[in-house]
Amino acid sequence: MEYIKKPPIERKWLRCPYCGAKTVLFDNTAQCSGVFVKCTRGCKREFEVKIIEGKQVQ
Ligand SMILES: [Zn+2]
Repeated sequence: MEYIKKPPIERKWLRCPYCGAKTVLFDNTAQCSGVFVKCTRGCKREFEVKIIEGKQVQ
């Protein structure tokens, strides 16, 4: 059996940049910009989801 090695998928919470509340889940292969999410658990503000190479950028 031959295996193709893939990097392990790690899921992380995207956190609200204003209050730190957990908003949506992404994994370490995500690339995202121009998507807006409303913080529903904390401050209720809208913010842009910016993810570069699986890391949240603010
Ligand atoms: Zn918030």
